[in-house]
Amino acid sequence: MITVLSGGTGTPKLLQGIKEIVDPSDLSIIVNTLENDYFAGVYVSADIDTVLYTMAGMINEEVWYGVRNDTFTTHERLEELSCPELLRIGDIDRATKIQKTLLMQNHSLQESVDIQAGHMGITSKIIPMSNENSEIKIITDIGELEFHDFLIKHQSEPEVLDLKFSEVAPAEGLIDTIRNSDAVIIGPSNPITSILPILSLKGVKDALKEVPVIAVSPIIGNDSVSGPAAKFMNAMGIEVSSIGVANLYKDFLDAIVIDSQDENLKSALGEIINKVIITNTIMNTLDTKKELAEKILEGIL
Ligand code: GDP
Repeated sequence: MITVLSGGTGTPKLLQGIKEIVDPSDLSIIVNTLENDYFAGVYVSADIDTVLYTMAGMINEEVWYGVRNDTFTTHERLEELSCPELLRIGDIDRATKIQKTLLMQNHSLQESVDIQAGHMGITSKIIPMSNENSEIKIITDIGELEFHDFLIKHQSEPEVLDLKFSEVAPAEGLIDTIRNSDAVIIGPSNPITSILPILSLKGVKDALKEVPVIAVSPIIGNDSVSGPAAKFMNAMGIEVSSIGVANLYKDFLDAIVIDSQDENLKSALGEIINKVIITNTIMNTLDTKKELAEKILEGIL
C-alpha cells in the first residue's frame, strides 16, 4: 500500500497521476483538516473535498476546489439576500457539504468521508488527519486572522508574523496506516499549513521513521509554485527553497524530488537527504503528473 500526505492543491494534482499508475484501492490519502470549519451553515472540509473530487474525477482544476462546471445559483441568491458567504460554494459542491454536515450529526468525520467516498465510487481510503475540531490562526501585521479570512478576504496579502494551530489527536488507524505502507509520499503541498499539521500529530514522525518516505518539493527556486507557502515558511524562519523543505522533513525523509530548475541544489541537498531526484515537477498536464508519479515510485519502491 502507498500512503500520500495531502493538502488541497499541489498533492491533488499529483494524485491524478498516481491514480493512473497505482491501483486506487492500494492507496491511502491522509488529508489535512486543520482549517475545517462551518461556513454559511455547512461544514467545510476544503482539502478533503478536493481530494474526494480529485479521486472521483470531478474536481474543478481551475481553482482546485469545488466541482467542474458547477453552477452558483444559491451562492448568488445569498448575495442578493445580503447574506454573502466568504467561500464561493457551487450548488453541486454545496450538496456534498450539506450531506457531510448531516452525516456528522451522528457519525465521525472519518465515517462521513467513507460514506461519501462510497457514493462517489472511490476505492482509495481517504483519511482525515483528525476527527477532532481544530483551529488555525494567522498572526499578521494587521492582527490575528482566521485562515480563510487571510486567504480569501485578505487575498494572502498581509505580512505573516507567526501562526498558531490547535493540537488534535490523529484519526483512529492513521498511525497503523503509515506503519503498514510500502512507501509514504509527502506531496508538494504547503509545508506549513498542509503538511506540518499532519506531521505534528502524536506518533506520526516516529511512524514515518519506520517506512520509506519520499517528498516532492512545492518550492522551485525561492518561491512556491502557487499560493502563500513562501510567506509561511519565512514567518517560521525556514529558508524558502527545497533546502528549507528538506530541513523540515529530514528526520524521516529518505528521498526528495526537486524540479530540474533547481539542479544546482543537488550537492547541498545530498548533504541533508540520502537520495535527490531531479525532474520536471510542474504538473500542468496529465502526462506530466503521470511522469512525476512514475519517477517518485521508481525512486522509493
Ligand atoms: P492548499 O491546501 O490549497 O494550500 O494546497 P496544498 O497545500 O496542497 O498545495 C499548495 C502548494 O502546492 C503550494 O506550495 C505550491 O507551490 C504547490 N504546487 C501547486 N502546483 C504545483 C506543481 O505543479 N508542482 C509543484 N512542485 N508544486 C505545486
